[in-house]
Amino acid sequence: MADRYEPAQIEARWQAEWEASGLFRTPDDPAGPKWYALTMYPYPSGDLHCGHWYAMAPSDVQARYKRMKGYTVLFPMGFDAFGLPAENAAIQRGIHPYTWTMENIDRMRQQLRSMGAMFDWSREVVTCLPEYYQWNQWFFLQFYRRGLAYRAKAPANWCPGCQTVLANEQVRPDGTCERCDSPVTKRDLEQWFLKITEYADELLDMAEIQWPERVKLMQTNWIGKSLGVEVGFPLDSSPRRGMSGEIRVFTTRPDTIYGVTFMVLAPEHPLVEQLTTPSRKPEVTAYVEQARRQSEIQRQSTETDKTGVFIGAYCTNPFNGQPVPIYTADYALMHYGTGAVMGVPGHDTRDFVFAKRYGLPIVTVIAPPGWEGQELTEAYTDPGMMVNSGPFNGMPSEEGIERVADYAEGEGWGERKAGYRIRDWLISRQRYWGTPIPIVYCPACGTVPVPENQLPVVLPANAEFRPTGESPLKYHEAFVNTRCPRCRRPAKRETDTMDTFVDSSWYQMRYLSPHFAGGPFERSVADRWHPVDQYTGGAEHATMHLLYARFFHKVMRDLGLVSTNEPYTRLFNQGQILGPDGQRMSKSRGNVVAPDEHVAKHGADAFRCYLMFLGPWDQGGPFNTEGINGIVRWLNRVWNLVLDHWDPGSEAEGARDGSSELRRWTHKTIQKVDEDIAAFRFNTMLAALMEFTNYLVRRETQALKGTAVWRGALESLLRLIAPSAPHLAEELWLRTGHSGSVHTQSFPTYDPALVQEEEITLVVQVNGRVRDRLTVSPAVTAEEAKRLALESEKVRSQTDGKEVAQVIYVPGRLVNVVAR
Ligand SMILES: [Zn+2]
Ligand SMILES: [Zn+2]
Repeated sequence: MADRYEPAQIEARWQAEWEASGLFRTPDDPAGPKWYALTMYPYPSGDLHCGHWYAMAPSDVQARYKRMKGYTVLFPMGFDAFGLPAENAAIQRGIHPYTWTMENIDRMRQQLRSMGAMFDWSREVVTCLPEYYQWNQWFFLQFYRRGLAYRAKAPANWCPGCQTVLANEQVRPDGTCERCDSPVTKRDLEQWFLKITEYADELLDMAEIQWPERVKLMQTNWIGKSLGVEVGFPLDSSPRRGMSGEIRVFTTRPDTIYGVTFMVLAPEHPLVEQLTTPSRKPEVTAYVEQARRQSEIQRQSTETDKTGVFIGAYCTNPFNGQPVPIYTADYALMHYGTGAVMGVPGHDTRDFVFAKRYGLPIVTVIAPPGWEGQELTEAYTDPGMMVNSGPFNGMPSEEGIERVADYAEGEGWGERKAGYRIRDWLISRQRYWGTPIPIVYCPACGTVPVPENQLPVVLPANAEFRPTGESPLKYHEAFVNTRCPRCRRPAKRETDTMDTFVDSSWYQMRYLSPHFAGGPFERSVADRWHPVDQYTGGAEHATMHLLYARFFHKVMRDLGLVSTNEPYTRLFNQGQILGPDGQRMSKSRGNVVAPDEHVAKHGADAFRCYLMFLGPWDQGGPFNTEGINGIVRWLNRVWNLVLDHWDPGSEAEGARDGSSELRRWTHKTIQKVDEDIAAFRFNTMLAALMEFTNYLVRRETQALKGTAVWRGALESLLRLIAPSAPHLAEELWLRTGHSGSVHTQSFPTYDPALVQEEEITLVVQVNGRVRDRLTVSPAVTAEEAKRLALESEKVRSQTDGKEVAQVIYVPGRLVNVVAR
């Protein structure tokens, strides 16, 4: 008997050996076809948890498989190292964010090594180091120069709990902070934006990416393009009011424009202040104040009442000359469309509620079917015949949309436009632990970008952490006070830092030349390797990270840095691993499974395979401790099978009984494993390998020991297992007298002729008596089997002139025809 399978001994040894031999070092210049496999880099929270393993181990399996298929594979790893938790740790426990982060990285790096993944550690990227973040600053300057970075006063989501500004995505639908549950409010701040809206149309074009439909749809909806008309409603220009100008509104329903009975301005709209009449001032001011304390989500909620106040002024509907009273209401948002909404209560549900509440007229301009002029009891939002619409009366409203738009353009009242839901990307964070924004404010010169040759603007190490909500940089005299790069007079630095999504928008490029000092990446290396061929990661990044990275890539292209349009050609989202109770793993639920324990007890190979065997990878599922034992037993069987029954073979190839069956089994298994890994079907891939192992263990196939076909079967098994259980396969490869690493072997190939399914025989009976036998594929469907039986000459001669009452199919065995 061979030694026992002891993963604890062999795994650490191989990890050290691979590292020493540089087995997974990737060349800058790939020979032959390249494959850039990328799995989303982790945030260094301190412990590698099951979710990391679940995302990374199967990604590693596919990367290893691609290598064995002949690609030069790059599979890098790094750390998304800036972010709020490090700063919170500093505030709560007095640990410097740098120390906290780097200690966590050290620990996670060790844990990642225990996975036995083929990460090329020589390319590690850590985003909180100046050698990385100086290029965030460099990119910012390029964006600024192209007019793609700008500063504007904007209401920010403000979390009183975290004492920081939040991105819209960090605010839950109920208006609370996703980190601390506090209700989120608003605050006005001067902030930096990146102009992603400039690329909105191009981001809608996803022809070049092979991504899940769900993600593409989410991005399309996030961008939210709609076509409509922007119309100007002239302001009341009577000499007494003395106002001139107009209110611009965007509408996708110009066919309803004759039904406008009021106009709504967002409380932040500059015209509110200008147009409010003195008598309305106190009420309007109070309302605006109150609206600004609410979150956008609360304001947009369908559950809350639609409130507003009349500001005392009127504008004119250019189509019918009617005066239109102007309100301000919190459901209009300043940064959606033009910040003004035309109120058409007859044909918009929200406007209908508003009009009812404030006693405003409701005019029907699109007639519902069978309408005879009666008052509407609710908004009619479907198409219909245009009425009360001047020259358009009697026109179907769908056609009216175009004709009214033509009319508005012809009269010069408005023009066709595209509206977008997406807003520019707010990157300012009032935090310390992020990339300093490279801007100086000079009393004489204004906003001055830091010259490129003065980068990086380094985060000062000795910051003071106070829970004030303002960046500790703000109190750091030595950081804040500087000299203007232009006039050399005293000036102040920008103290906000960048959203960490800036880091992850281009990190895939830094892996290509992680220590390059002459730019964010080396063009010659990037040209060889980008774009990423296969990206894997969690589905929660559908709209932020994945959209920002596409935007960044297109800007890099326009800067002449890359030649392609998209950063990630293929994307696959894994599911989520749950606690044994089927709930999301969390410390508070006490259902967190610690991977280290299982790795120590059963080995990394078993843990990798166990996670893949849970179920389809894109669906995730609950962790189950029982399940891992089955995997351990299987790996032990493989171990014993190979070591007990490996025979270097003294005997020439002979056609013994069973050898052609064994060959067919081997080739079918190769085909199954090959196709399954390519399609991320890891669970069925492992099931096929287990079945094959069981087949090999069976006594009759062991009679083939010593033959070439037997050795071929065992060698194929090791090569097929190598991506999933890399340590075990490597050890057995060595112990069976092979030289070189199993991981440098090519993936086995199969003979298509040998994987053809055999045929089966179906017995066909008529009224219980055998009349025919059919040779069919084992994959035959019930439908097909019945049809073939009824078409048989022998069956037809029995059923001629009778009625076929019933056809019964017993799968794989017989068809019985009942005829009367
Ligand atoms: Zn919070
Ligand atoms: Zn100056």
